[in-house]
Amino acid sequence: MLIVMETNATKEMVASVCQEIEKMGLKAHPMPGPTRTAIGVTGNTSQVDSDRIQAQTGVKEIIHVTKPYKLVSREFYPENTIIELGEGVTIGGVEIVIMAGPCSVESRDQCMIIAEKVAKSGGKVFRAGAYKPRTSPYSFQGLGEQGLKILEEVRNQFNLLIITEAIDTETLDLVAHYTDIVQIGARNMQNFSLLKKAGQQTKTVLLKRGMSATLEELLMAAEYILNEGNRKVILCERGVRTFADHTRNTLDLSAIPFVKRMSHLPIIVDPSHGTGRRDKVLPLSRASVAVGADGLLIEVHHDPANALSDGAQSITPDTFERLMKEIGAIATVMGRSLG
Ligand code: PEP
Ligand code: MN
Repeated sequence: MLIVMETNATKEMVASVCQEIEKMGLKAHPMPGPTRTAIGVTGNTSQVDSDRIQAQTGVKEIIHVTKPYKLVSREFYPENTIIELGEGVTIGGVEIVIMAGPCSVESRDQCMIIAEKVAKSGGKVFRAGAYKPRTSPYSFQGLGEQGLKILEEVRNQFNLLIITEAIDTETLDLVAHYTDIVQIGARNMQNFSLLKKAGQQTKTVLLKRGMSATLEELLMAAEYILNEGNRKVILCERGVRTFADHTRNTLDLSAIPFVKRMSHLPIIVDPSHGTGRRDKVLPLSRASVAVGADGLLIEVHHDPANALSDGAQSITPDTFERLMKEIGAIATVMGRSLG
């Protein structure tokens, strides 16, 4: 349910409507907009006495939202959500934000070499996993806190923002302490305790689409985070599993315009996991920007043949430089710019 307040409704009126909602055992989410404030109501609203709310001073109208996702929906919040990531970088507006780096933090030297190239080519966010969710327990699991400390050094040395993955509730706070953006991976998209905890902290969250998740399921997962109070969520299309075996996953680029219509949250594309093949990253990056993505998450490695994870889909710094130039040109055509 969405309560739309009159344009001239005061803060006190909004607060008093929120109080009334809470008295009914529901949750009120005031959402100030450029022209008027709306109050999102979540919880079981089926028994709500609409007349009681309508009778409050300052209430213009009550809209019943039929979709199961509420706080993430365009109906609740028609404007695009623009998130300030730090260092003057925003996502969800005109800027297209490029996040790039290796799959995993392997060593200090490895991160420094790659980060320098990423920064030089115009990337704004450095990606690398310190905790890795691997299919096999025998594969490299990541450097853990030592990896987070290396990422902190990268941040200080190159003025790059950091995105890194939190794989469980136990380490989420530690990861959030070191990073600018907390990544929740495809395998954890429906780890509800992790989503709730990510909603209770203040760092921006990048939520990847599960390998077999519908867009509604992706949005419902994001709803868990917003429902806990954190509205800074970026969605990520990273490919889904289909019968096609020419790529590691099938990159569903149609998800971008669909999500844009369904939700106000920014959405980016990960063409590295989406294709699993280095030579397909550049063409799919071009297409992602053309289809309206707010950013890209790209795996870059200076020595992909010896990478400890995902070498086959990692592009070299030279290809990354070329990619930045090409998508910069496409961004201009789209009336956007590289952040
Ligand atoms: C990653 O970004 O390295 C990763 C593990 O991604 P995903 O969760 O999409 O598989
Ligand atoms: Mn990877």
